[in-house]
Amino acid sequence: MTTHQQVETGYLGTDFVVLRDAMRWVGHYPIRTRGTVGGSIAHADATAEWCLLAILLDARIVVESVRGRRMIEADSFFFGYYATDLAFDEMIVEIFFPNRAPHAAVTEFAERRGDFAIVAAAVSLDLDGVEVVGGRVALAGVGATPVRSPAAEAVLAAGGTFADCADAAADALDLEDEGMFTVEYRRTLVRTLVTDAYGDALVSQGAHT
Ligand SMILES: Cc1cc2nc3c(=O)[nH]c(=O)nc-3n(C[C@H](O)[C@H](O)[C@H](O)COP(=O)(O)OP(=O)(O)OC[C@H]3O[C@@H](n4cnc5c(N)ncnc54)[C@H](O)[C@@H]3O)c2cc1C
Repeated sequence: MTTHQQVETGYLGTDFVVLRDAMRWVGHYPIRTRGTVGGSIAHADATAEWCLLAILLDARIVVESVRGRRMIEADSFFFGYYATDLAFDEMIVEIFFPNRAPHAAVTEFAERRGDFAIVAAAVSLDLDGVEVVGGRVALAGVGATPVRSPAAEAVLAAGGTFADCADAAADALDLEDEGMFTVEYRRTLVRTLVTDAYGDALVSQGAHT
């Protein structure tokens, strides 16, 4: 029952700043006061911010029915467009984020402010002092579900630049033309958005910086 607006206004305290900051991308204010985190994950829109964050941060989704509870890893929860591992009688009752991800950011591009994104990128960096020693990169709008980018993450682990990381994320994609959003258009968006998210993650002020 937690709404996007509750998270946006500090419901989670000073931990998980990336979850709070990502909420500004979810629709408009009236949407955020009514839409819920569980509803968003159950609905499984391909570019929903919560689905992207769940994939980025290895969320575990706790679901319950008369048959009991079970916990589903985010990477096996989303099957495709609006399709999940939820059985018809199961409800999401809890979403567990195991990593605080103090150096993380989400950014996206939509045709109009408040629309669902065409492409969204999320980056979480592992820092040793000021040095990037690894991290995670997740993308939405490049397929039926949000995905991690192993190619971009390999660049992060090898100490590559943010430009290398963005290029790796874009080049590794296996995209198909969708309406007016051509492969090259979305590849360019990925390159730009990963670059931006990387920069935002680097300067983000998580609780443990
Ligand atoms: C104009 C508009 C713009 C939007 N823009 C964005 C956006 O930019 N980004 C974004 O992420 N979202 C966006 N949304 C979606 C919105 O944020 C809501 O999260 C989403 O509509 C789900 O709403 P809800 O929580 O009220 O769930 P509902 O609409 O009540 O439910 C959605 C589905 O999930 C099921 N469900 C709901 N809760 C649970 C649960 N706990 N367990 C199991 N199943 C459940 C319902 O049965 C239903 O099938 C937008 C919505 C609108 C109307």
